[in-house]
Amino acid sequence: ESVPSPDGKRILLATPRGYCAGVDRAVDAVEKALELYGAPVYVRKEIVHNKFVVETLSKRGAVFVAETDEVPEGARVVFSAHGVSPAVHAQAEARKLATIDATCPLVTKVHKEAVRFARDDFDILLIGHDGHEEVEGTHGEAPDHIQVVNGPHEVDQVEVRDPDKVIWLSQTTLSVDETMETVRLLRERFPNLQDPPSDDICYATQNRQVAVKKLAPDADVVIVVGSANSSNSVRLVEVALDAGAGSAHRVDKADEIDPAWFDGATTVGLSSGASVPEILVREVIERLKELGFTGVEEVRTATEDVLFSLPKNLRADLKASG
Ligand code: SF4
Repeated sequence: ESVPSPDGKRILLATPRGYCAGVDRAVDAVEKALELYGAPVYVRKEIVHNKFVVETLSKRGAVFVAETDEVPEGARVVFSAHGVSPAVHAQAEARKLATIDATCPLVTKVHKEAVRFARDDFDILLIGHDGHEEVEGTHGEAPDHIQVVNGPHEVDQVEVRDPDKVIWLSQTTLSVDETMETVRLLRERFPNLQDPPSDDICYATQNRQVAVKKLAPDADVVIVVGSANSSNSVRLVEVALDAGAGSAHRVDKADEIDPAWFDGATTVGLSSGASVPEILVREVIERLKELGFTGVEEVRTATEDVLFSLPKNLRADLKASG
């Protein structure tokens, strides 16, 4: 979709960007639940960390709650893409809620790893951000065996029972480079530290970072579309700066763009987090065109074809309804 610009002022458009398979499935699950069962459909936490998505679904009848105890007994609740701890499943069961679990399968994979290594009595070092919903959910699988390591600065504080029985796992949406630095430091302390059986940082997080890294050295300014509580979006801003972008800004939508950011700029890099609908990127492109960046060049570093099917019980109900 490259369009040349007469005066060389251009946008480098990162590809892949935007929706990942886990977000697509989670949003689709809420939409299908609304169609099938009618409003209201309760959703525990933001289904995905994007303001626009949450507002759009709210208008259609989704009711977002912080905890399951806000859901009327016996009602239907969707669990968000970030996953939940076993305690939340138990609370939902106690209140006889009909649950639709939209946890991304790649988050579930990390939960399973945590359960397995806790069963084998490992100390599990979960690299991730304290307080993030995904970390709360994974931590809740084996609270006695898991400690959260927020980043390289916390490595010194880690204490383990047996240095020969330690594994690291991670949140799915971290910066790959920073995580590897944390692992390097952990391994200096615990040389027999085990790696996860497969990458915990998911394909979508990795691909979006690779694309931004590629365009950042050529960009005077990088714009990342995404919400402030979206971990992978915030990481893209950091990755852009580390990779040499002149400056980098996160915006929820086009009207947050400040024209002063582009003084003297000829090249703008543009990407979006894994929870961001493409329409928000299109609006940013229109805004950048008004500011003179009329050329658009795609910078593609991967092609994605991952698809996840809807949660099983929802699929069954959809099938039964014809
Ligand atoms: Fe799943 Fe990765 Fe998307 Fe998170 S960012 S929902 S782990 S695919």
